[in-house]
Amino acid sequence: MKKIAIIGTGYVGLVTGACLAEMGNQVICLDIDKEKIESLRALNLPFFEPGLEELVVRAVEAERLFFTDQYNEAIPGTDLCFLALPTPSNEDGSCDLSYVLAAAEEIAANMDNYLLIVNKSTVPIGTAEKVTETLKKTLDERGVTIAFDVASNPEFLREGNAVADCLKPERILIGAKTTKAKELLKELYAPFCPQQDRIQITDIRSAEFAKYAANAMLATRISFMNNLATLAEKLGVNIDEVRIAMGADERIGNKYLNAGIGFGGSCLPKDIRALCAIGKKYGHPTPLFDSVLAINEEQRNFFYEKIARFFGSLSGKTLAIWGLSFKPNTDDMREAPALYLIQKFLEAGAHLRIYDPIALPKAKILLNRFDQVYFASDEYDAAENSDAIILATEWKQFQFADFEKIGASMNSKVFFDGRNQHSPDKMHKIGFIYFGIGQPDPIKELVCP
Ligand code: NAD
Repeated sequence: MKKIAIIGTGYVGLVTGACLAEMGNQVICLDIDKEKIESLRALNLPFFEPGLEELVVRAVEAERLFFTDQYNEAIPGTDLCFLALPTPSNEDGSCDLSYVLAAAEEIAANMDNYLLIVNKSTVPIGTAEKVTETLKKTLDERGVTIAFDVASNPEFLREGNAVADCLKPERILIGAKTTKAKELLKELYAPFCPQQDRIQITDIRSAEFAKYAANAMLATRISFMNNLATLAEKLGVNIDEVRIAMGADERIGNKYLNAGIGFGGSCLPKDIRALCAIGKKYGHPTPLFDSVLAINEEQRNFFYEKIARFFGSLSGKTLAIWGLSFKPNTDDMREAPALYLIQKFLEAGAHLRIYDPIALPKAKILLNRFDQVYFASDEYDAAENSDAIILATEWKQFQFADFEKIGASMNSKVFFDGRNQHSPDKMHKIGFIYFGIGQPDPIKELVCP
């Protein structure tokens, strides 16, 4: 059993804290957001993540998980301290390390024994060295000598599946320098990976870089398919058939190949921007990743233009928006493609009936001020009297919606599927005009001359 402090109690911090407590450790989660800490103490979670609430409640009741907003409660006497802090984009796309370095100062101001500081935030290569310098400087100012190590342990959990990813990880990447740091982390993670076959130990810089590399690959696959999809549309080709054919090749695989309206969320966009900024800083061009970002932005616009073109004018039209979170099974709307579309529709004078199975409360905070936005109680309510349905996030419940009933309640049976969740044939059969991504245009088939 280890005494652990988690600094930053967001998606990564809370999941990590709850999972480490589940394995029998004594964990205290710290956040500077007092309201968040108060509500966590009352067992109200600040976001939705399947399976997390049960884990948190169990650990709190067993007195293995605590919450605080005070560094002097979290740090003294702790063995390991995890950083799960925001690393947003600066204006130039580079990574803003101010949250990480501010936390490092607070840790050094409060530590009283050997401490292993483990960074889980996604950070530029060389950040562990910066954290080390900050810790040393603050300890010097205090006039004390206390040993510490800084390690990198990038987080690979996927929102929507985070608890399972954390309890049974595909890999645990540890970037560490000293034997003590490596052994401490190996011991801590042993219960998550009894065979130890998924623990990879490397130098710190390689671990930091590996996280960016993994996200760059995922984002590249998405933009790769989206770039092909818009071309496929011009050629009268169905990209989903192409995807299946490609994915059958085991060198390619079938994951992360769905065409759609692009990636969003709190990680991929900012991490690819940061990677491009790192390239710039070191005078090393990153044209592939620059294009991945440009294609991603263009993809949303391409979808919006398709809708705008169909209607001629969107002014006064009523659009049902299905799905607001950046992907299913989360309420996270950070950089969600749906938000981009909503903004464009509002600017064009449309009325919106929006719905998401989980993200609606978060959407209300962001969009309550717009009179043209109605918050629907379900996908049926959203579709009522609408001129078209726009599917922005492929929640499972939309798959099984009763389209006969939905179609009968709409002004016109038009469906724009931003995630290719539905089959064009099925939708045509029940009388919908259906537009997917990278599928032959149902109105005006543009075939290659
Ligand atoms: P988040 O915004 O959900 O949580 C960060 C928390 O840190 C917030 O609650 C904030 O109040 C708190 N905080 C800010 N400054 C603080 C300080 N000085 N001291 C204590 N708390 C402070 O962020 P997140 O989504 O959990 O991401 C954290 C990091 O993990 C980021 O670098 C992100 O790129 C990376 N990451 C995220 C995911 C994901 O799916 N969300 C996955 C892998 C990696």
